[in-house]
Amino acid sequence: MSAPAAARGGAPGRGWETVVGLEVHVQLLTRTKMFCACSAAFGDPPNTNVCPVCLGLPGALPVPNEHALRLAARAAFGLGLTVHPRSSFARKHYFYPDLPKGYQITQHRAPLSTRGRLEVASPDRGAVPVGITRIHVEEDAGKSFHDKVPGMTAVDFNRSGVPLIEIVGEPDLRSPAEARAYLAALKQVLLYLEVSDCSMEEGSLRVDANVSVRPAGSAELRTRCEIKNLNSFGHVERALTAERDRQIAAYERGGTIEQRTMTFDAATGEVRPVRAKEESHDYRYFPEPDLPPLVLEPEWLAEVRASLPELPAAKRARLERQYGLAAREAAVVTATAALSGSFESFVTLSGAANGKEAWNWFANDLLSFSADGETIPLPLERAAAAVKLVQAGKIGRQSLKPLLARMVETPAADAEALAQALGLLQVSDSGAIDGWVREVLAAHPGEVARCKGGEKKLFDFLVGQVMKRSKGRADARLVNAALTAALEIQG
Ligand code: ZN
Ligand code: MN
Repeated sequence: MSAPAAARGGAPGRGWETVVGLEVHVQLLTRTKMFCACSAAFGDPPNTNVCPVCLGLPGALPVPNEHALRLAARAAFGLGLTVHPRSSFARKHYFYPDLPKGYQITQHRAPLSTRGRLEVASPDRGAVPVGITRIHVEEDAGKSFHDKVPGMTAVDFNRSGVPLIEIVGEPDLRSPAEARAYLAALKQVLLYLEVSDCSMEEGSLRVDANVSVRPAGSAELRTRCEIKNLNSFGHVERALTAERDRQIAAYERGGTIEQRTMTFDAATGEVRPVRAKEESHDYRYFPEPDLPPLVLEPEWLAEVRASLPELPAAKRARLERQYGLAAREAAVVTATAALSGSFESFVTLSGAANGKEAWNWFANDLLSFSADGETIPLPLERAAAAVKLVQAGKIGRQSLKPLLARMVETPAADAEALAQALGLLQVSDSGAIDGWVREVLAAHPGEVARCKGGEKKLFDFLVGQVMKRSKGRADARLVNAALTAALEIQG
Protein backbone atom coordinates (compact mmCIF):
# COMPACT_ATOMS: atom_id res chain seq x y z
CA MET A 1 0.00 0.00 0.00
CA SER A 2 1.06 3.58 -0.48
CA ALA A 3 0.36 4.82 3.03
CA PRO A 4 3.73 3.92 4.60
CA ALA A 5 5.62 5.35 1.65
CA ALA A 6 3.54 8.53 1.73
CA ALA A 7 4.14 8.81 5.47
CA ARG A 8 7.87 8.84 4.80
CA GLY A 9 7.22 12.03 2.83
CA GLY A 10 9.64 12.98 0.10
CA ALA A 11 12.56 10.92 1.36
CA PRO A 12 12.09 7.20 0.76
CA GLY A 13 15.48 5.81 -0.12
CA ARG A 14 17.20 9.10 0.72
CA GLY A 15 19.49 10.33 -2.02
CA TRP A 16 17.23 9.39 -4.94
CA GLU A 17 15.27 11.67 -7.24
CA THR A 18 12.10 10.62 -9.05
CA VAL A 19 11.53 11.56 -12.71
CA VAL A 20 7.99 11.38 -14.06
CA GLY A 21 6.47 12.18 -17.45
CA LEU A 22 2.77 11.73 -18.13
CA GLU A 23 0.82 10.92 -21.28
CA VAL A 24 -2.81 11.92 -20.95
CA HIS A 25 -5.57 10.77 -23.31
CA VAL A 26 -8.58 13.08 -23.30
CA GLN A 27 -11.88 12.45 -25.06
CA LEU A 28 -13.08 15.50 -26.96
CA LEU A 29 -16.60 16.82 -26.38
CA THR A 30 -18.11 16.08 -29.77
CA ARG A 31 -21.52 14.75 -30.71
CA THR A 32 -20.06 12.34 -33.27
CA LYS A 33 -16.93 10.22 -33.73
CA MET A 34 -13.56 11.24 -35.22
CA PHE A 35 -13.95 9.75 -38.70
CA CYS A 36 -17.66 8.83 -39.06
CA ALA A 37 -21.09 10.22 -38.13
CA CYS A 38 -21.82 7.69 -35.33
CA SER A 39 -22.81 9.12 -31.96
CA ALA A 40 -19.95 9.49 -29.48
CA ALA A 41 -22.35 9.37 -26.49
CA PHE A 42 -21.29 7.45 -23.39
CA GLY A 43 -23.49 4.75 -21.89
CA ASP A 44 -25.68 3.70 -24.84
CA PRO A 45 -26.48 -0.04 -25.21
CA PRO A 46 -23.38 -1.93 -26.47
CA ASN A 47 -22.64 -1.88 -30.20
CA THR A 48 -25.50 0.47 -31.11
CA ASN A 49 -23.33 3.41 -32.26
CA VAL A 50 -21.39 1.66 -35.01
CA CYS A 51 -21.00 1.75 -38.80
CA PRO A 52 -18.66 0.27 -41.43
CA VAL A 53 -16.02 3.00 -40.74
CA CYS A 54 -15.68 2.49 -36.99
CA LEU A 55 -16.07 -1.29 -37.32
CA GLY A 56 -13.21 -1.31 -39.83
CA LEU A 57 -15.16 -2.99 -42.62
CA PRO A 58 -13.34 -3.20 -45.97
CA GLY A 59 -13.85 -0.25 -48.29
CA ALA A 60 -15.10 2.16 -45.63
CA LEU A 61 -13.39 5.57 -45.75
CA PRO A 62 -12.68 7.94 -42.82
CA VAL A 63 -13.72 11.62 -42.95
CA PRO A 64 -12.22 13.92 -40.27
CA ASN A 65 -14.59 15.60 -37.83
CA GLU A 66 -13.98 19.35 -38.07
CA HIS A 67 -15.38 20.07 -34.63
CA ALA A 68 -12.95 17.56 -33.09
CA LEU A 69 -10.06 19.30 -34.87
CA ARG A 70 -11.30 22.66 -33.58
CA LEU A 71 -11.39 21.36 -29.98
CA ALA A 72 -7.93 19.81 -30.38
CA ALA A 73 -6.50 23.11 -31.68
CA ARG A 74 -8.24 24.95 -28.85
CA ALA A 75 -6.61 22.67 -26.27
CA ALA A 76 -3.22 23.13 -27.93
CA PHE A 77 -3.49 26.94 -28.00
CA GLY A 78 -4.76 26.98 -24.41
CA LEU A 79 -1.67 25.07 -23.27
CA GLY A 80 0.66 27.35 -25.19
CA LEU A 81 1.60 24.95 -28.00
CA THR A 82 2.37 25.90 -31.57
CA VAL A 83 -0.39 24.54 -33.84
CA HIS A 84 1.02 23.54 -37.20
CA PRO A 85 -0.84 24.54 -40.38
CA ARG A 86 0.09 21.15 -41.83
CA SER A 87 0.08 17.80 -40.03
CA SER A 88 -0.62 14.22 -41.03
CA PHE A 89 -2.30 11.01 -39.90
CA ALA A 90 -0.61 7.63 -39.52
CA ARG A 91 -1.58 4.03 -38.81
CA LYS A 92 -0.34 2.51 -35.55
CA HIS A 93 -0.59 -1.27 -35.74
CA TYR A 94 -1.23 -3.68 -32.92
CA PHE A 95 -3.44 -6.67 -32.45
CA TYR A 96 -6.17 -6.58 -29.86
CA PRO A 97 -9.82 -7.70 -29.99
CA ASP A 98 -11.17 -4.18 -29.37
CA LEU A 99 -9.28 -2.75 -32.37
CA PRO A 100 -11.30 -3.90 -35.41
CA LYS A 101 -9.05 -2.44 -38.12
CA GLY A 102 -5.89 -3.89 -36.60
CA TYR A 103 -4.50 -0.34 -36.43
CA GLN A 104 -5.36 2.96 -34.76
CA ILE A 105 -5.46 6.19 -36.77
CA THR A 106 -3.21 8.62 -34.92
CA GLN A 107 -0.57 11.26 -35.67
CA HIS A 108 3.08 10.26 -35.58
CA ARG A 109 5.83 12.12 -37.48
CA ALA A 110 3.86 15.35 -38.02
CA PRO A 111 1.57 16.00 -35.06
CA LEU A 112 -1.02 18.78 -34.83
CA SER A 113 0.95 20.79 -32.26
CA THR A 114 4.25 20.89 -30.38
CA ARG A 115 6.05 22.59 -27.48
CA GLY A 116 3.86 24.15 -24.82
CA ARG A 117 3.94 24.39 -21.07
CA LEU A 118 1.78 24.43 -18.01
CA GLU A 119 2.67 26.08 -14.73
CA VAL A 120 1.96 23.77 -11.80
CA ALA A 121 1.72 24.53 -8.08
CA SER A 122 4.05 21.80 -6.84
CA PRO A 123 3.54 20.76 -3.21
CA ASP A 124 7.34 20.44 -2.86
CA ARG A 125 8.86 23.08 -5.15
CA GLY A 126 6.38 25.97 -5.48
CA ALA A 127 5.39 27.07 -8.99
CA VAL A 128 7.15 24.92 -11.61
CA PRO A 129 6.79 25.02 -15.41
CA VAL A 130 6.09 21.59 -16.91
CA GLY A 131 6.87 21.17 -20.59
CA ILE A 132 4.32 19.71 -23.00
CA THR A 133 6.05 17.93 -25.87
CA ARG A 134 3.08 17.58 -28.20
CA ILE A 135 -0.68 17.28 -28.50
CA HIS A 136 -1.92 15.09 -31.33
CA VAL A 137 -5.29 13.83 -32.52
CA GLU A 138 -6.28 10.16 -32.65
CA GLU A 139 -9.21 7.78 -32.38
CA ASP A 140 -10.13 5.58 -29.43
CA ALA A 141 -10.40 1.80 -29.51
CA GLY A 142 -13.46 -0.20 -28.42
CA LYS A 143 -13.83 -1.43 -24.87
CA SER A 144 -13.22 -4.98 -23.68
CA PHE A 145 -15.14 -6.51 -20.79
CA HIS A 146 -13.57 -9.52 -19.11
CA ASP A 147 -16.30 -9.94 -16.49
CA LYS A 148 -19.58 -9.81 -18.47
CA VAL A 149 -19.65 -13.30 -19.99
CA PRO A 150 -18.09 -16.18 -18.00
CA GLY A 151 -14.97 -17.52 -19.70
CA MET A 152 -15.16 -15.02 -22.55
CA THR A 153 -14.27 -11.43 -23.38
CA ALA A 154 -17.07 -9.15 -24.59
CA VAL A 155 -16.33 -6.11 -26.77
CA ASP A 156 -18.36 -2.90 -27.11
CA PHE A 157 -17.46 -0.90 -30.23
CA ASN A 158 -19.45 2.22 -29.27
CA ARG A 159 -16.17 3.80 -28.16
CA SER A 160 -14.32 2.71 -31.31
CA GLY A 161 -13.42 5.83 -33.28
CA VAL A 162 -14.33 8.36 -30.58
CA PRO A 163 -12.05 11.45 -30.90
CA LEU A 164 -9.12 11.80 -28.50
CA ILE A 165 -6.21 14.08 -28.01
CA GLU A 166 -3.02 12.70 -26.52
CA ILE A 167 -1.15 15.23 -24.38
CA VAL A 168 2.48 14.13 -24.04
CA GLY A 169 4.30 15.79 -21.14
CA GLU A 170 8.05 16.23 -20.66
CA PRO A 171 9.73 14.27 -17.83
CA ASP A 172 9.71 17.43 -15.69
CA LEU A 173 7.81 16.10 -12.68
CA ARG A 174 9.80 15.15 -9.58
CA SER A 175 7.37 13.37 -7.24
CA PRO A 176 4.10 11.45 -7.26
CA ALA A 177 2.37 14.40 -5.54
CA GLU A 178 3.71 16.77 -8.20
CA ALA A 179 2.34 14.48 -10.93
CA ARG A 180 -1.06 14.70 -9.29
CA ALA A 181 -0.84 18.50 -9.09
CA TYR A 182 0.02 18.61 -12.82
CA LEU A 183 -3.04 16.51 -13.64
CA ALA A 184 -5.29 18.74 -11.55
CA ALA A 185 -3.94 21.86 -13.29
CA LEU A 186 -4.28 20.22 -16.72
CA LYS A 187 -7.85 19.13 -16.06
CA GLN A 188 -8.75 22.63 -14.85
CA VAL A 189 -7.45 24.22 -18.08
CA LEU A 190 -9.26 21.64 -20.25
CA LEU A 191 -12.52 22.26 -18.39
CA TYR A 192 -12.13 26.05 -18.76
CA LEU A 193 -11.57 25.45 -22.49
CA GLU A 194 -14.67 23.21 -22.64
CA VAL A 195 -12.89 20.71 -24.86
CA SER A 196 -13.68 17.65 -22.68
CA ASP A 197 -15.78 16.72 -19.67
CA CYS A 198 -12.59 15.11 -18.24
CA SER A 199 -14.69 12.45 -16.49
CA MET A 200 -12.31 9.80 -15.23
CA GLU A 201 -15.25 7.57 -14.23
CA GLU A 202 -16.44 7.50 -17.84
CA GLY A 203 -12.91 7.11 -19.19
CA SER A 204 -12.72 10.50 -20.89
CA LEU A 205 -9.40 11.25 -19.15
CA ARG A 206 -6.86 8.41 -18.88
CA VAL A 207 -3.26 8.56 -17.76
CA ASP A 208 -0.12 6.60 -18.68
CA ALA A 209 2.84 7.39 -16.43
CA ASN A 210 6.54 6.99 -17.24
CA VAL A 211 8.76 6.84 -14.18
CA SER A 212 12.43 6.38 -13.39
CA VAL A 213 14.70 7.23 -10.48
CA ARG A 214 18.26 8.54 -10.38
CA PRO A 215 20.80 9.61 -7.75
CA ALA A 216 19.80 13.06 -6.46
CA GLY A 217 21.75 15.79 -8.21
CA SER A 218 22.47 13.72 -11.32
CA ALA A 219 21.06 14.71 -14.70
CA GLU A 220 21.06 11.24 -16.24
CA LEU A 221 17.81 9.60 -17.34
CA ARG A 222 17.79 5.97 -16.23
CA THR A 223 15.61 3.19 -17.61
CA ARG A 224 11.94 4.02 -17.16
CA CYS A 225 8.87 1.89 -16.74
CA GLU A 226 5.44 2.85 -18.03
CA ILE A 227 2.34 2.33 -15.91
CA LYS A 228 -0.68 2.07 -18.22
CA ASN A 229 -4.28 3.16 -17.90
CA LEU A 230 -4.49 4.87 -14.55
CA ASN A 231 -8.06 6.01 -14.09
CA SER A 232 -8.02 8.26 -11.04
CA PHE A 233 -5.65 10.93 -9.72
CA GLY A 234 -5.37 8.95 -6.48
CA HIS A 235 -4.32 5.85 -8.43
CA VAL A 236 -1.69 7.86 -10.31
CA GLU A 237 -0.12 9.01 -7.05
CA ARG A 238 -0.25 5.57 -5.42
CA ALA A 239 1.03 3.74 -8.49
CA LEU A 240 3.94 6.17 -8.94
CA THR A 241 4.85 5.86 -5.26
CA ALA A 242 4.85 2.07 -5.45
CA GLU A 243 6.87 1.99 -8.68
CA ARG A 244 9.39 4.57 -7.40
CA ASP A 245 9.91 2.54 -4.23
CA ARG A 246 10.30 -0.67 -6.26
CA GLN A 247 12.98 0.89 -8.47
CA ILE A 248 14.90 2.43 -5.56
CA ALA A 249 14.85 -0.89 -3.72
CA ALA A 250 16.16 -2.69 -6.82
CA TYR A 251 19.07 -0.23 -7.24
CA GLU A 252 19.90 -0.34 -3.54
CA ARG A 253 20.09 -4.13 -3.73
CA GLY A 254 22.60 -3.66 -6.54
CA GLY A 255 20.10 -4.72 -9.22
CA THR A 256 18.96 -3.09 -12.43
CA ILE A 257 15.63 -1.96 -13.88
CA GLU A 258 14.33 -3.50 -17.07
CA GLN A 259 12.15 -1.32 -19.31
CA ARG A 260 8.67 -2.77 -18.83
CA THR A 261 5.01 -1.88 -19.16
CA MET A 262 3.30 -2.15 -15.80
CA THR A 263 -0.26 -2.21 -14.50
CA PHE A 264 -1.48 -0.94 -11.16
CA ASP A 265 -3.71 -3.06 -8.97
CA ALA A 266 -5.75 -0.61 -6.91
CA ALA A 267 -6.93 -3.39 -4.56
CA THR A 268 -3.41 -4.36 -3.45
CA GLY A 269 -1.60 -1.08 -4.25
CA GLU A 270 0.98 -3.06 -6.26
CA VAL A 271 2.44 -2.45 -9.69
CA ARG A 272 3.35 -5.48 -11.78
CA PRO A 273 4.58 -6.06 -15.31
CA VAL A 274 2.04 -6.95 -18.01
CA ARG A 275 2.73 -10.20 -19.90
CA ALA A 276 5.65 -9.69 -22.26
CA LYS A 277 3.44 -10.88 -25.14
CA GLU A 278 1.20 -7.80 -24.73
CA GLU A 279 4.02 -5.30 -24.94
CA SER A 280 5.26 -5.48 -28.48
CA HIS A 281 6.62 -2.00 -29.19
CA ASP A 282 6.85 -2.40 -32.94
CA TYR A 283 3.78 -0.54 -34.08
CA ARG A 284 4.93 -0.47 -37.74
CA TYR A 285 3.75 3.14 -38.17
CA PHE A 286 3.11 4.24 -41.71
CA PRO A 287 1.22 7.18 -43.28
CA GLU A 288 -2.57 6.75 -43.40
CA PRO A 289 -3.28 6.36 -47.14
CA ASP A 290 -7.02 7.11 -46.77
CA LEU A 291 -6.49 10.63 -45.36
CA PRO A 292 -4.71 13.53 -47.08
CA PRO A 293 -2.41 15.73 -44.99
CA LEU A 294 -4.37 17.86 -42.55
CA VAL A 295 -4.13 21.48 -43.72
CA LEU A 296 -5.48 24.18 -41.41
CA GLU A 297 -6.04 27.61 -42.95
CA PRO A 298 -4.44 30.59 -41.16
CA GLU A 299 -7.87 32.28 -40.82
CA TRP A 300 -9.33 29.15 -39.22
CA LEU A 301 -6.42 28.93 -36.77
CA ALA A 302 -6.65 32.64 -35.95
CA GLU A 303 -10.37 32.30 -35.30
CA VAL A 304 -9.87 29.32 -32.96
CA ARG A 305 -7.14 31.17 -31.10
CA ALA A 306 -9.23 34.33 -30.75
CA SER A 307 -12.10 32.35 -29.22
CA LEU A 308 -10.11 31.17 -26.18
CA PRO A 309 -11.58 32.17 -22.81
CA GLU A 310 -9.57 33.69 -19.98
CA LEU A 311 -7.67 30.70 -18.53
CA PRO A 312 -7.13 29.85 -14.85
CA ALA A 313 -3.65 31.35 -14.36
CA ALA A 314 -4.59 34.65 -16.03
CA LYS A 315 -7.86 34.78 -14.15
CA ARG A 316 -6.18 34.18 -10.78
CA ALA A 317 -3.67 36.94 -11.48
CA ARG A 318 -6.41 39.34 -12.54
CA LEU A 319 -8.61 38.65 -9.50
CA GLU A 320 -5.63 39.18 -7.18
CA ARG A 321 -4.96 42.51 -8.85
CA GLN A 322 -8.51 43.70 -9.34
CA TYR A 323 -9.99 42.73 -5.96
CA GLY A 324 -6.89 42.66 -3.75
CA LEU A 325 -7.21 38.92 -3.07
CA ALA A 326 -4.42 36.70 -1.73
CA ALA A 327 -3.22 33.96 -4.08
CA ARG A 328 -5.04 31.31 -2.03
CA GLU A 329 -8.28 33.32 -2.09
CA ALA A 330 -8.11 33.80 -5.85
CA ALA A 331 -7.51 30.05 -6.26
CA VAL A 332 -10.70 29.26 -4.30
CA VAL A 333 -13.02 31.32 -6.49
CA THR A 334 -11.36 30.34 -9.79
CA ALA A 335 -11.72 26.59 -9.16
CA THR A 336 -14.10 26.55 -12.13
CA ALA A 337 -15.04 29.14 -14.74
CA ALA A 338 -18.66 29.10 -13.53
CA LEU A 339 -17.64 29.77 -9.93
CA SER A 340 -15.43 32.71 -10.83
CA GLY A 341 -18.27 34.12 -12.94
CA SER A 342 -20.59 33.89 -9.93
CA PHE A 343 -18.01 35.54 -7.71
CA GLU A 344 -17.55 38.51 -10.01
CA SER A 345 -21.33 38.99 -10.38
CA PHE A 346 -21.66 38.81 -6.63
CA VAL A 347 -19.00 41.49 -6.07
CA THR A 348 -21.14 43.90 -8.09
CA LEU A 349 -24.51 42.83 -6.72
CA SER A 350 -23.50 42.79 -3.05
CA GLY A 351 -22.41 46.43 -3.00
CA ALA A 352 -19.42 45.33 -0.92
CA ALA A 353 -16.97 48.08 0.02
CA ASN A 354 -14.12 46.04 -1.54
CA GLY A 355 -13.34 42.71 -3.17
CA LYS A 356 -11.93 41.24 0.02
CA GLU A 357 -15.19 41.86 1.88
CA ALA A 358 -17.17 40.33 -0.99
CA TRP A 359 -14.77 37.34 -1.00
CA ASN A 360 -15.44 36.74 2.70
CA TRP A 361 -19.19 36.59 2.18
CA PHE A 362 -18.90 34.58 -0.98
CA ALA A 363 -16.32 32.01 0.14
CA ASN A 364 -17.21 31.68 3.82
CA ASP A 365 -20.98 32.00 3.71
CA LEU A 366 -22.41 31.36 0.23
CA LEU A 367 -20.00 28.64 -0.86
CA SER A 368 -20.72 26.60 2.26
CA PHE A 369 -24.20 25.92 0.82
CA SER A 370 -22.84 24.57 -2.46
CA ALA A 371 -23.12 20.79 -2.85
CA ASP A 372 -20.60 20.59 -5.71
CA GLY A 373 -18.28 23.42 -4.71
CA GLU A 374 -19.30 25.26 -7.85
CA THR A 375 -23.04 25.96 -7.95
CA ILE A 376 -24.52 28.50 -5.53
CA PRO A 377 -27.99 27.10 -4.69
CA LEU A 378 -29.84 30.42 -4.70
CA PRO A 379 -29.91 33.32 -7.17
CA LEU A 380 -27.05 35.74 -6.54
CA GLU A 381 -29.49 38.70 -6.40
CA ARG A 382 -31.18 37.08 -3.41
CA ALA A 383 -27.87 36.28 -1.71
CA ALA A 384 -26.88 39.89 -2.24
CA ALA A 385 -30.17 41.03 -0.67
CA ALA A 386 -29.28 39.05 2.47
CA VAL A 387 -25.80 40.57 2.58
CA LYS A 388 -27.32 44.04 2.26
CA LEU A 389 -29.29 43.40 5.45
CA VAL A 390 -25.93 42.93 7.23
CA GLN A 391 -24.52 46.06 5.64
CA ALA A 392 -27.59 48.08 6.70
CA GLY A 393 -27.24 46.84 10.28
CA LYS A 394 -30.62 45.08 10.10
CA ILE A 395 -29.16 41.68 10.95
CA GLY A 396 -25.91 40.77 12.66
CA ARG A 397 -22.95 39.29 10.76
CA GLN A 398 -23.50 35.99 12.57
CA SER A 399 -27.13 35.86 11.39
CA LEU A 400 -26.20 35.74 7.69
CA LYS A 401 -25.64 31.98 7.52
CA PRO A 402 -28.91 30.98 9.23
CA LEU A 403 -30.77 33.42 6.98
CA LEU A 404 -29.12 32.06 3.81
CA ALA A 405 -29.92 28.51 4.92
CA ARG A 406 -33.61 29.37 5.14
CA MET A 407 -33.49 31.26 1.81
CA VAL A 408 -32.11 28.16 0.09
CA GLU A 409 -35.11 26.18 1.40
CA THR A 410 -37.72 28.82 0.47
CA PRO A 411 -36.66 30.23 -2.88
CA ALA A 412 -39.46 32.78 -3.28
CA ALA A 413 -39.50 34.51 0.12
CA ASP A 414 -38.20 38.04 0.65
CA ALA A 415 -34.91 38.22 2.58
CA GLU A 416 -36.05 40.79 5.13
CA ALA A 417 -39.40 39.06 5.70
CA LEU A 418 -37.55 35.79 6.35
CA ALA A 419 -35.11 37.50 8.72
CA GLN A 420 -38.08 38.85 10.64
CA ALA A 421 -39.83 35.45 10.72
CA LEU A 422 -36.62 33.87 12.03
CA GLY A 423 -36.28 36.58 14.71
CA LEU A 424 -32.93 37.66 13.25
CA LEU A 425 -33.72 41.35 12.79
CA GLN A 426 -31.60 43.47 15.08
CA VAL A 427 -33.23 45.72 17.62
CA SER A 428 -32.04 49.25 16.93
CA ASP A 429 -34.82 50.92 18.87
CA SER A 430 -32.92 53.06 21.39
CA GLY A 431 -35.72 52.84 23.95
CA ALA A 432 -35.44 49.04 24.11
CA ILE A 433 -31.65 49.11 24.22
CA ASP A 434 -31.54 51.78 26.96
CA GLY A 435 -33.95 49.62 28.95
CA TRP A 436 -31.66 46.57 28.77
CA VAL A 437 -28.65 48.72 29.64
CA ARG A 438 -30.40 50.05 32.78
CA GLU A 439 -31.35 46.51 33.82
CA VAL A 440 -27.77 45.27 33.39
CA LEU A 441 -26.24 48.20 35.32
CA ALA A 442 -28.69 47.57 38.16
CA ALA A 443 -28.00 43.83 38.19
CA HIS A 444 -24.17 44.11 38.27
CA PRO A 445 -23.18 47.03 40.55
CA GLY A 446 -19.84 45.41 41.47
CA GLU A 447 -18.73 44.99 37.86
CA VAL A 448 -19.93 48.51 37.03
CA ALA A 449 -17.78 49.95 39.80
CA ARG A 450 -14.69 47.99 38.71
CA CYS A 451 -15.25 48.99 35.09
CA LYS A 452 -15.32 52.66 36.09
CA GLY A 453 -12.22 51.98 38.18
CA GLY A 454 -10.35 51.09 35.00
CA GLU A 455 -10.92 47.35 34.43
CA LYS A 456 -11.69 47.75 30.73
CA LYS A 457 -12.44 44.08 30.09
CA LEU A 458 -15.51 44.43 32.27
CA PHE A 459 -16.97 46.72 29.60
CA ASP A 460 -17.09 43.73 27.24
CA PHE A 461 -18.70 41.69 29.99
CA LEU A 462 -21.46 44.33 30.37
CA VAL A 463 -21.96 44.47 26.56
CA GLY A 464 -22.33 40.69 26.64
CA GLN A 465 -24.96 40.90 29.36
CA VAL A 466 -26.98 43.41 27.32
CA MET A 467 -26.75 41.21 24.22
CA LYS A 468 -27.94 38.28 26.31
CA ARG A 469 -30.98 40.18 27.53
CA SER A 470 -31.80 41.08 23.91
CA LYS A 471 -31.41 37.41 22.95
CA GLY A 472 -28.62 38.41 20.58
CA ARG A 473 -30.77 40.74 18.53
CA ALA A 474 -29.58 44.13 19.77
CA ASP A 475 -27.45 46.09 17.30
CA ALA A 476 -24.00 45.72 18.90
CA ARG A 477 -22.83 49.17 17.81
CA LEU A 478 -25.82 50.83 19.47
CA VAL A 479 -25.32 48.76 22.64
CA ASN A 480 -21.71 49.95 22.83
CA ALA A 481 -22.74 53.56 22.45
CA ALA A 482 -25.61 53.33 24.92
CA LEU A 483 -23.47 51.60 27.54
CA THR A 484 -20.64 54.09 27.18
CA ALA A 485 -23.05 56.97 27.58
CA ALA A 486 -24.76 55.39 30.59
CA LEU A 487 -21.44 54.74 32.39
CA GLU A 488 -20.34 58.35 31.81
CA ILE A 489 -23.57 59.78 33.15
CA GLN A 490 -23.31 57.55 36.19
CA GLY A 491 -19.68 58.51 36.64
ZN1 ZN B 1 -19.14 4.79 -37.10
MN1 MN C 1 -2.28 7.46 -27.84
